[in-house]
Amino acid sequence: MSTLFGKSRSGRRAFLPPPAASKAEPRIAAKRRRKGGADLPEMGELELLRHFVGLSVKNHSIAKGFYPLGSCTMKYNPVLSEALAGLEGFTGSHPAQDLRDVQGNLELLYQLQESLAGITGLPAVALQSVAGAQGEFVGMLVARAYHESRGDNRKKVLIPDSAHGTNPASVRMAGLETVTLPSGENGLVDLDALAEALDDDCAALMLTNPNTLGLFESDILKINEMVHEAGGLIYMDGANMNALLGHVRPGDIGFDIMHLNLHKTFATPHGGGGPGAGPVAVRADLEEFLPGPRICKTDAGFDLIRSEHSVGEVHAWWGNFGILVRALAYILRYGGDGLGDIATAAVLNANYLQTKLRDTLDIPLPGLCMHEFVASGSFLRKHGVRTLDVAKRLLDFGMHAPTVYFPLIVSEALMIEPTETETRETLDEFIAAMQQIVREAEESPELLTSAPHNTPVGRLDEAHAAKSLCVIAPCGGELVDLEPGS
Ligand SMILES: *Cc1c(COP(=O)(O)O)cnc(C)c1O
Repeated sequence: MSTLFGKSRSGRRAFLPPPAASKAEPRIAAKRRRKGGADLPEMGELELLRHFVGLSVKNHSIAKGFYPLGSCTMKYNPVLSEALAGLEGFTGSHPAQDLRDVQGNLELLYQLQESLAGITGLPAVALQSVAGAQGEFVGMLVARAYHESRGDNRKKVLIPDSAHGTNPASVRMAGLETVTLPSGENGLVDLDALAEALDDDCAALMLTNPNTLGLFESDILKINEMVHEAGGLIYMDGANMNALLGHVRPGDIGFDIMHLNLHKTFATPHGGGGPGAGPVAVRADLEEFLPGPRICKTDAGFDLIRSEHSVGEVHAWWGNFGILVRALAYILRYGGDGLGDIATAAVLNANYLQTKLRDTLDIPLPGLCMHEFVASGSFLRKHGVRTLDVAKRLLDFGMHAPTVYFPLIVSEALMIEPTETETRETLDEFIAAMQQIVREAEESPELLTSAPHNTPVGRLDEAHAAKSLCVIAPCGGELVDLEPGS
């Protein structure tokens, strides 16, 4: 597709209001002013509109179709939240403004801190981190600071082998060491393996609950008791909170620290790397270590807390403020009981899909699931078809593929998360598409191995696309493929 520069024709214009009558003196010094006109594309309004609408429909999005990308909670992002985040009072305020002028913004942040404390059952919340992974990193810094404050130099963090890849990375970045816990045959934490790994060098257990197989850790009370007895803290990767919202508060079942993915559970547009928000919630005695600044309420209004023992600042100012506005709008829109309904419907939708697909796909752990489940495409290999081919073929049905090849402990994995915002009709369409694709794999596998057939581009060389970014175009030219480093 041609760029705006490629489509530019000299002299073409969109509608322009007549020039202002009074000629104000430019405030930029003469020697710094441009000599000629700017080398910008010239085009009519309609061409411009078509260019951007054309771009917007090339990619798949939740606004375009079903998006069962496991682990990512690609639910509907209410337009109301967008409208509120776009209010001029929010977008027009500057983070360096005097706090007296932005009391409304601070109140909003304070209310969000309080709401998330209520939802998690953990009383102290820091909003600054801007991704789930950064929340994990903060959580590990807090755990480390806690142990160090007690003169304890614990270093080991236990992580189940089903965990998201960010977990071990965050642990290492925080200067701690990872120990992998093998999952039991039921996909849950193996209590014997846990007992064996626990010792007085254990700083924390990092647990995703429900885990990445979509299973609730049914021994959670026992697990948390064991880790506490060994002197460790328990961190919950709360990226899967969509399954628990309004039903289980992690603080009530023994978790000490957790992060939430506001851009998953609390409905903000995400994908392609952000922006996001990964607030961290902790039990009361860990509050002093949280990153700052945080918001407090005083008789004179809202103010900042900067704790002496804080692990420091992890992002500029308030983090991603617009994402925080969207999250609070979403929470207030649903309210207490409404939040519980979200989790109920998310779990129901996942179980509906799983049950209906049992005869079509191989589902290694076919019991009740939470908000997502994992299937294996291994049974298709006898037809020369891989999970990747199934994912590509789904695109031809106007649906995004599930997450593939994760978690690593299921071979040829397909991780399916419908979310609560899909109708039964959409779920049925997905079921029918999967049934047709599996039939095709048996009867005409080349339909899959050469898919997709009706998307703007066919099968890409993904490694090349990731490593050799093609994101700039010289003025007036077509997109060029840059060699790395050039
Ligand atoms: C998405 C996710 C993360 C990471 O969150 P980011 O915002 O992408 O950094 C961590 N753990 C789990 C289980 C997740 O699903």
